Amino acid sequence: MAGVWVLGENREQLFELLSIGRSLADKYGTTLAAFAFQDTQAARDCIARGADRAVVLKYRGQEGPLDVFMPTIVEEVKGKDPDMLLIASTYRLKELAARIAERLKAGLCSDCIKLVFNEEEKSVEMERLMYGGSAVQKVVCLSRPAMATIPPGTFEKAEAGSGPGKEGDVDEIVQTNEPAVTMLERKVREREAKDIREARTVICVGRGFEKKEDIKLAEELATVLRGEIAGTRPVTEELHWLPESLCIGLSGIQVRPDLYIGLGVSGQIQHVTGLRDAKVICAVNRDANAPIFGVSDLGIVGDLYDVVPKLVDELKKGF
Ligand SMILES: Cc1cc2nc3c(=O)[nH]c(=O)nc-3n(C[C@H](O)[C@H](O)[C@H](O)COP(=O)(O)OP(=O)(O)OC[C@H]3O[C@@H](n4cnc5c(N)ncnc54)[C@H](O)[C@@H]3O)c2cc1C
Repeated sequence: MAGVWVLGENREQLFELLSIGRSLADKYGTTLAAFAFQDTQAARDCIARGADRAVVLKYRGQEGPLDVFMPTIVEEVKGKDPDMLLIASTYRLKELAARIAERLKAGLCSDCIKLVFNEEEKSVEMERLMYGGSAVQKVVCLSRPAMATIPPGTFEKAEAGSGPGKEGDVDEIVQTNEPAVTMLERKVREREAKDIREARTVICVGRGFEKKEDIKLAEELATVLRGEIAGTRPVTEELHWLPESLCIGLSGIQVRPDLYIGLGVSGQIQHVTGLRDAKVICAVNRDANAPIFGVSDLGIVGDLYDVVPKLVDELKKGF
């Protein structure tokens, strides 16, 4: 038995992995299986979106680290011998993926952003960024299964009815083993923000803003365009003017909006990596040589403190 297996923490991650998983499974000439954690409906929906088999992994104890599922996944892999395991690159799943790979002595390409099937070798060439995003590393796993973690937002979601479209049963595996880690307390992070990976318009705040209060300029633009605010790493992770979860780029998230507008963003590769799939990229920067203009469809060379209020006024007239 073989197959391509996908594992995600939630429906969105599973649906994204199903789209790349389906195309690889078809090229391998094999089946596609989806593994969901705790959520039977998500597993069922995976069948409608292209999976041939869906498994829901359940645990009767407290919610917490996913390492409790590691022995079962390892045993499933040993028994069914899949060709590939594609796992969402989240904090918890990256840790789980590394443990599974170690147990199986399998090769694992982390934060993989592209997978290309090699017809002759019947293998998959995986690409990941390295040296802070300035180089692309190509990886081929010689061991079996080939494993990759894939950042959420890398692939489009599989649509309902995109696969074989048949009804399928959902297998349930209930864990009984004790987790290695006990969760003592659960605290919701302060400054929790919206998930901007779904936003159609993203206004990105860069270090060109002089102080936190000035972000209201970007918010006004976001309001008139019905968009969401995001930031570069200095603005989110260093200055904490915006939540860290809004950082776009290599160490943040990947977005794929219809429209991205960078305000006072220089456009370093580590940032641009996170927006390469935006349909239209616009930038406002007072430096005509800023690298962001090299990847922009539209650019305004000017001071954002002059340009943005004018832009908002003009857009208000048009809406
Ligand atoms: C391993 C690694 C990972 C990283 N990951 C990320 C990541 O995920 N995301 C990320 O964003 N960065 C990341 N970085 C940092 C990245 O290299 C850049 O430093 C960062 O993106 C720069 O942010 P910025 O454009 O806001 O600031 P700056 O580079 O300081 O640019 C500010 C820009 O604003 C312009 N400006 C200034 N004043 C005005 C004004 N009044 N009007 C208009 N324009 C103005 C300037 O001309 C300049 O171009 C990473 C770096 C490393 C080494």
